Amino acid sequence: MNEQNMNQTPCIAVAIDGPAGAGKSTIARRVAQELGFLYVDTGAIYRTVGYHMSLMGIGPKDKDGIERCIDDVNIEIVYQDGVQHMILNGQDVTELIRTPEMSMMASGVSAQPCVRAYLLDMQRQLARTHNVVMDGRDIGTVVLPHAQVKVYLTASAEVRADRRWKELTAKGEQVRFEDVYTDVVKRDEQDMNRKIAPLKCADDAELLDCSYLTVDQVVAEVKEIIRRKTAQ
Ligand code: C5P
Repeated sequence: MNEQNMNQTPCIAVAIDGPAGAGKSTIARRVAQELGFLYVDTGAIYRTVGYHMSLMGIGPKDKDGIERCIDDVNIEIVYQDGVQHMILNGQDVTELIRTPEMSMMASGVSAQPCVRAYLLDMQRQLARTHNVVMDGRDIGTVVLPHAQVKVYLTASAEVRADRRWKELTAKGEQVRFEDVYTDVVKRDEQDMNRKIAPLKCADDAELLDCSYLTVDQVVAEVKEIIRRKTAQ
């Protein structure tokens, strides 16, 4: 891992939260690359836990099973050429976690308090030692409540489902738009209504609706917010 900011404080943290398919990872990755920050995709960490539970035959709502197995989840995050790789108990699962099933698994297991507690320090540790652009659901509200920059990125459910559908079909997956749309709406509902660390816009976050903006426009907007906030 890049140790660029070891021993230098304070590091700059950019928190990007928002619902599924809002384009957080595309935007966060580009902004991080252009600013020389570390990009941390926290959804990938929850997906990795979900993948482990599915390997163990444990369902997303099986609280006891998840509590029993969470200590067996050994996750390493490795950066290769700026790409975040997820290593689960020694196996690179980066590609395996990118399926609609793992999206729903991640959403299910992420509602379990033991899972969130288990992953909290891993995420905070990265922000203690690096300038980061971190995306997720609770970064500005729970993981990094003191982040200098907070953005809540959203778009209409139709636009988000359309982006996800295009992403999946481009990878050769046979999925129906209606099913992707249903999953996106269901995931939002679960993520926004869970008891612990629900998805919501932090009071001090900048709300950005990118339904009708291009990637370049959103990247420029986020960089402008960062410039403004870090110049204060
Ligand atoms: O962002 P992504 O779609 O990869 O996230 C997968 C799931 O992981 C989300 O639907 C959400 O339930 C969970 N998640 C979370 N907190 C985060 C990031 C992701 O609960 N910080």
